[in-house]
Amino acid sequence: MTKYRGGAVEQPVEQDPAKCSAYGCPLRASVNQGGGWQCFCHAWATPDKWQAITRELREHDWLIGLIGDLQRLYNEGSKDQPWLTMAREFWAEYPDLKPTAREVANWNLYLWRMRAELEHRVGARSKKPEPLEPAQPHPKRGNATHAAQEITA
Ligand SMILES: [Zn+2]
Repeated sequence: MTKYRGGAVEQPVEQDPAKCSAYGCPLRASVNQGGGWQCFCHAWATPDKWQAITRELREHDWLIGLIGDLQRLYNEGSKDQPWLTMAREFWAEYPDLKPTAREVANWNLYLWRMRAELEHRVGARSKKPEPLEPAQPHPKRGNATHAAQEITA
């Protein structure tokens, strides 16, 4: 007879290796800090914050969806820039979240800011992101593109 030790009974969970290793996280993994692959929101947070971040990510599925939709529209490559129309309409009442002229010219800057906005809203980033100005270092293209993939896939 095995003795029940109390606490949660561990069930084997079928884990998609492309998914973030934080339990229940809806995002794809893109960063390995040495403790397994995680998404950009969990990778830099201490484990005591993981559950709260996961819960917030689930409450912000609308923003995750928006970023994914914008990425898909951008990837279609239309000269009409439907991603820009969508972003402007979505944030109609939030002018500070609409793409700046610089972000219109460089999609990756806007993608970076939307991801940072998500990080901020779920508690994985303390400071609300501002549009990157020319004097600031901007995210490498590869990083932004990779980060987008974890949301769209
Ligand atoms: Zn995660």
